[in-house]
Amino acid sequence: MPLSPQDTPKQPTSSLSAKDVSISINLIANIAMFTFSTETKPEEEITIEMETPQASFSKSESKEFKAETRKLLDIVAKSIYTDKEVFLRELLSNCSDALEKHRFDLTRGNSAVSGSSEDDLHISILTNSKERTITIFDSGVGMSREEVVENLGTIAKSGSQAFVEKMNEGEGNGDVSDSIIGQFGVGFYSSFVVSDHVQVLTKQEGKQGVRWVSDGCGAYEVSNADNLDFERGTRITLKLLPESREFSTDGLVEKTIKKFS
Ligand code: ADP
Ligand code: MG
Repeated sequence: MPLSPQDTPKQPTSSLSAKDVSISINLIANIAMFTFSTETKPEEEITIEMETPQASFSKSESKEFKAETRKLLDIVAKSIYTDKEVFLRELLSNCSDALEKHRFDLTRGNSAVSGSSEDDLHISILTNSKERTITIFDSGVGMSREEVVENLGTIAKSGSQAFVEKMNEGEGNGDVSDSIIGQFGVGFYSSFVVSDHVQVLTKQEGKQGVRWVSDGCGAYEVSNADNLDFERGTRITLKLLPESREFSTDGLVEKTIKKFS
């Protein structure tokens, strides 16, 4: 079912009253400092929007996932997945890769990123238990619209590809999903183990921003995003399934990250 921008859950319109907890820990492979923050105020009604209030989006284009991706998503969504936390490892590993790619551009003297430095390389996580969301941002390379479609619409990628191969091998014995998901990760798509509404906002330095939204059921929507509140990077927000709501609290997320670090 295609999602329209109005379906998108919202971020706190007022963060002033929100409780802010910040810790910094060393990220996997020392790539960046981690900022972790939580915004919760249980007694207060909070309206959430995943996009920044000033951001605007072009008319979105609806696209179908490729057949193999649909198959994978179907299995992911149906799995009673025991290591749900794997989604965090996968998303954070993508963040690390994105920061690493930016760092590489810098060392290569890529003129498109000449204005930036290594100082602004970071990953941050924001949880909102009231709205049951977790948002992960990295100031890495970001993606162009073509890359978004290519990278998030197909599964030509390592972990997910291996997963599908295994899945095809195991077809017929009905015992494929859980152990194999755990083994391979399934990359970005593991988001749909814990969420049925994923939004990606992404932007390369000096380029047009892009928004990608999907419920993981066959289709996704892509649009141009203007006036994002970051110059470069990727922000992924997951509206968590009720049974995965524990990932919208700082305690578990912090514990999980430490486990992966
Ligand atoms: P893999 O990491 O094995 O390539 P994933 O499914 O985890 O597979 O990610 C697919 C692709 O999407 C990545 O290879 C990368 O090109 C792109 N991608 C995912 N997350 C990000 C991100 N935070 N920043 C930039 N690109 C990303
Ligand atoms: Mg990955």
